[in-house]
Amino acid sequence: MAIQAIRYHDFSMGHTVTGHEGKCRFLHGHNYRVTFYVEAPELDKIGRVMDFSVIKELLCEWLEVNWDHKFVVSKDDPRAQGLKALDEPGTIIVDFNPTAENLGKHLVEVVGPGVLAGTDVVLMKVNIEETRKCSVDVTK
Ligand SMILES: [Zn+2]
Repeated sequence: MAIQAIRYHDFSMGHTVTGHEGKCRFLHGHNYRVTFYVEAPELDKIGRVMDFSVIKELLCEWLEVNWDHKFVVSKDDPRAQGLKALDEPGTIIVDFNPTAENLGKHLVEVVGPGVLAGTDVVLMKVNIEETRKCSVDVTK
């Protein structure tokens, strides 16, 4: 049996998809919804994977601090340094192209293990919606 605790978080973020063939190459943004799926080897003594408020404090808060109302751009995008010069605190340069797929990979591979260190809870999956119609699932 696998039991997952699930919580989503809505935030707004700008990005550009470097090398995109269509309009996603322009500077633009989305109202993202990220859904986190967490598991633990066993439930705690009162019967939870992790309290929903703790999922909010750890994972949703990471989104609030790091990505909400920021502009995320690949280090390989020729506009990256110019954007950083225009808005240093608001521009986040990452070492990947910020597609929904790569944002999800970063959350599962880097952010989850980081913020959940010291707990026995694992971020097993994220779903990232760029729009209500388009989303990706990334599973550990
Ligand atoms: Zn986009």
